[in-house]
Amino acid sequence: MSEVNAVIYLVRHDMRVKDNPILDRLASSKDHGFTHLLPLHIIPPTQVEVSGFLKDGTRSPYPEARSEVGRFWRCGPHRARFIAQSIWNLKDNLTKLGNDLNIRIGKSDELLKDLVNGLKEQEIRVAAVWTIAEEGYEEEREEKNLKEACSDLGIELEMWVDEKYFIDDRDLKLATPQDLPDVFTSYRKMNEPLRERPRPTRPRPSEGSLPKPIEASRIPAQPDPFEIPTSLEALEAAFLRPIERDVPVVARVDEIKSAHPFRGGEDNALNRLKYLINSGSASSYKSSRNGLLGVDYSTKLSAYLAQGCISARQIHEELLHFENGDDDGYVETDGYGKGENEGTQAIRFELLWRDYMRLCTRKFRAKLFHRSGFRNEHSQKWKTARTDNKAAEEQSQSTGDVAAIVRRVLEGTTGQSLIDASQRELIHTGYTSNRARQNVGSFLAKHLNIDWRYGAEWYEFMLVDYDVNSNWSNWQYVAGVGNDPRGDARIFNPVKQAFDYDKDGEYARCWVPEIRKVEKLENLFQPWTTPKEDWERFGLNGLAMAEDPVKKINFSVEGKPKSSRRPYIRKRGQGRSEMNNSSTPKLTSREDTSEEKPPTAQGLQAARNSTANSRGGPRGGTWGMGGGGRGRGHGGPRRGFHGGRGGFQQSYTQVHGAIPPHPWSQPHIGPA
Ligand SMILES: Cc1cc2nc3c(=O)[nH]c(=O)nc-3n(C[C@H](O)[C@H](O)[C@H](O)COP(=O)(O)OP(=O)(O)OC[C@H]3O[C@@H](n4cnc5c(N)ncnc54)[C@H](O)[C@@H]3O)c2cc1C
Repeated sequence: MSEVNAVIYLVRHDMRVKDNPILDRLASSKDHGFTHLLPLHIIPPTQVEVSGFLKDGTRSPYPEARSEVGRFWRCGPHRARFIAQSIWNLKDNLTKLGNDLNIRIGKSDELLKDLVNGLKEQEIRVAAVWTIAEEGYEEEREEKNLKEACSDLGIELEMWVDEKYFIDDRDLKLATPQDLPDVFTSYRKMNEPLRERPRPTRPRPSEGSLPKPIEASRIPAQPDPFEIPTSLEALEAAFLRPIERDVPVVARVDEIKSAHPFRGGEDNALNRLKYLINSGSASSYKSSRNGLLGVDYSTKLSAYLAQGCISARQIHEELLHFENGDDDGYVETDGYGKGENEGTQAIRFELLWRDYMRLCTRKFRAKLFHRSGFRNEHSQKWKTARTDNKAAEEQSQSTGDVAAIVRRVLEGTTGQSLIDASQRELIHTGYTSNRARQNVGSFLAKHLNIDWRYGAEWYEFMLVDYDVNSNWSNWQYVAGVGNDPRGDARIFNPVKQAFDYDKDGEYARCWVPEIRKVEKLENLFQPWTTPKEDWERFGLNGLAMAEDPVKKINFSVEGKPKSSRRPYIRKRGQGRSEMNNSSTPKLTSREDTSEEKPPTAQGLQAARNSTANSRGGPRGGTWGMGGGGRGRGHGGPRRGFHGGRGGFQQSYTQVHGAIPPHPWSQPHIGPA
């Protein structure tokens, strides 16, 4: 009988060694009885495309990791890179602690069986698997399979509380998930003062304090047909290989002004946190958080939180050090030792939002992915591009027309410049601000009445900080089917929002270079409103955004600038009211009479030409939105349609720096 008594620590979205409950437990006492530790991270083929890890000449046993409604890749290049960097940083940090991180690809229950049985042959007894419990339909299914696997293997599975949230699960003032209030404000009030709610963080394990590593040569290798890269560069390349060619190549921007230039990993997360406090950005957060351009208007901690490179209570605790004046490192920073300020309080408030979104998943489970949302809102008629959807029979537009509009929204050629800028920024950088996200969501769902899940899935593909709870709950919220008490009554006017938050048009000009020359803001924000005589001068001829916007919003500008905060008095409609903005100026009314209409064939041609004109030859492939699916129980039939029906052949130009100019890989997406 071997003397080895090992525990496998299955790392999920908890990619950190500091404030890590499992590592802390293993390091801080020996009474667990484990002699050896095998940290393991499994890349899930349902959520991340893994064909880039195949050995030469082999085929993947898994279907492509595509989304259900739009058939987009589930994890795009920005997040894939960030995940690779986070994995590698954790590997480095575990190595510094005398251990290592083993990376595998496949279904966790199958891999576990393979690993445990293989180790047994080496006389290494695995006694238990420890891992954190996560929210989400797929995550729960994985846990169920893990339980079965461990029971078959006769080993213990211990699910740990995921401690990366602001308020610890064991301190929730909720007897059951169903007790979660449907309004965030009620939940916040239950928890105030927020500063007193988080638990203290756990220390980083000291070197040599963890159970011993298992000799690498005795650990069964990754099963065929995959192989695990041995460097960060190779890991990133393997993630990116299959997906990068499917990123739309949009108009080149000369200087990439990424608001999110950050690399993944725990070390970078902690550095960023310290920088935010040191630089004063944390203290000014409340007034800057609605920014659109720049790195420091908001914390940019979301991607780190999503991967568990940092926990919310680490953020809270570092803020406490500054507020309480007990960390000399911050002594030079304004506000040091002066208690909670507006900015630090607002950060805690947002972190609670994040907790709340996750608790919504716990309460509503698979409804998170249902078009009818938490509210079971079935009266809304959503437009779809899927031919296999009953809604398609009832909608006024053809599925092909809807597909074309969806595509223009995703790629940022709608003619609403705030939306277009945000979508281009997202494609280039993987990030766009909360303000912009709200507008994009509202535009797709409430102005265009298009199935909001196209947007949610696109964000899942594109966002560097995608998080299942935050993304889908927020999309429900802006689409009016989730936990916004104002539901359908709240609608963002993207022109007004542009005036409020993009005061000089810098954001629009930065990300939508085709319209940079347009002089007046009201024309810049909707190029179609530019007087015809100026079109040639501003380069608008042939541009779909000007010639055939997917939505026209009548919006007039009156008078002179009143102040730098509110440059114009603007007129606005009496329709559904815009309630999102506390700084809403006094507006005289005028209906948002926008006529929603499909782009004409001419308009689509113009969309193609406009990007091709400015930047060289076509690179397109056809692209579709619909088709087969699997996964999360969104429900609905699985059959797909030929994307773009008749082929919406888009021509693109090269993105500077960020994304290589690959054509779309598929002649169509989804089964015939
Ligand atoms: C349609 C839509 C989709 C979104 N998808 C995601 C997503 O996939 N992942 C994600 O982390 N956030 C998502 N958000 C929330 C929010 O936009 C981002 O968390 C924020 O923009 C990230 O930037 P930051 O870290 O600088 O945020 P900050 O403004 O600095 O906020 C600090 C932290 O608070 C949390 N937070 C802030 N706002 C929210 C919110 N509305 N909901 C939940 N948590 C919040 C985040 O963890 C964030 O890092 C989405 C919002 C919308 C409207």
